Amino acid sequence: MREPPIAPSGLVQTAASLSAVERGTPIGVAVLGSTGSVGTQALDVIASMPERFSVVALAASRVSPLLEAQSRRFRPEIVAVSNEPEGWAGTGAIESGADALALAALHPAAEIVIVATSGHAAMGPTFRAVDAGKTIALANKETIVCAGEILMPLALARDAPIRPVDSEHSAVWQCLAGAPPAAVARLVLTASGGPFRSLGADELARVTVDQTLAHPTWAMGGKITVDSASLMNKGLEVIEARWLFDVRFDRIEVVVHPESIVHSLVEFVDGSMLAQLGLPDMRLPIQYALTYPERLPSPCPRLSLVQTAALHFEAPDLARFPALALARQAGEAGGTYPTALSAADEVAVEAFLAGRLRFVDIPAVVADVLAAHEVVGPLSLELIAEADAWARRSARNAVERRSAPSC
Ligand code: MG
Repeated sequence: MREPPIAPSGLVQTAASLSAVERGTPIGVAVLGSTGSVGTQALDVIASMPERFSVVALAASRVSPLLEAQSRRFRPEIVAVSNEPEGWAGTGAIESGADALALAALHPAAEIVIVATSGHAAMGPTFRAVDAGKTIALANKETIVCAGEILMPLALARDAPIRPVDSEHSAVWQCLAGAPPAAVARLVLTASGGPFRSLGADELARVTVDQTLAHPTWAMGGKITVDSASLMNKGLEVIEARWLFDVRFDRIEVVVHPESIVHSLVEFVDGSMLAQLGLPDMRLPIQYALTYPERLPSPCPRLSLVQTAALHFEAPDLARFPALALARQAGEAGGTYPTALSAADEVAVEAFLAGRLRFVDIPAVVADVLAAHEVVGPLSLELIAEADAWARRSARNAVERRSAPSC
């Protein structure tokens, strides 16, 4: 039994795709970023299927009461933290330091690695897990945005399936169902539009951090919630889709869909469109990434079409939300431009959350950095690390130039 290809390049089935029930032993899972939003929901899914999955490694940035509680509940063999632990009251051997995340990802008993760590720290360990042929359930955006161009060929060479966890890409994956690239006319990613969808340009200039963090449909971490409000998140997802599904940028469209019920669509060459619908609940795409190709009962609340009644779609306003266009430009430029985009955005969002930058200046900072960026040489992890460091410095300077005394 071969796993239907997710990308035209074709990622094939590994033992992890065999049903645990068929095998008689649970599938070992490493959860990187276990204390974050996706990580905790992934552990909820795993806890609901103890006969199918067992947690062999947990990784988080630091020791916390939550991480200790997770270790006591799931009894992993190792727990990895990037910061030096000041006491450990959990279960399992504690590992720390620069290589701890990779130790968790490469644990010999881990067949599936859930990469839910935020930011660039997940990139190296994810490459090593792919190199080792593990199945990756990928929730981390930066890895595929910055390094998709070199990650996907490696995954193909190592027979290491990369399964999307992001709701939009899970939707596309489910709609594609292994269809060949020649059958696909375009992908349509939906965006909720965030809390500021209907604000005018002058109102956008005055929005506060609290308003930005009040997302209308999804409960997520701070960085991604700001990115959702600016549509940068959707721009990053366009780049993700380009690499995950090997579809050109001009065939990836974004539509604003405020209800967040249709998670994305695929239009085929005959004009037929398939959509994936459900209530916004990350446990669904997480579960599908774990149990694929099987579909299993889920505790998630069910969608009632009659109660939903109406679904709305509109074109995104690129004038008010320029981040979407910036991301597309960076994606099309390729090389380290997506890295510069992602790193600059991270610095700008941090400055916004700290009250040092206006919301509307987030894309302005990113545009400054992209305008100054230059690509040298073929893409590699080293080049990505250099571009990341350069873009952060450049973005901090751009923030300085733009931060008004009144902020
Ligand atoms: Mg998403």
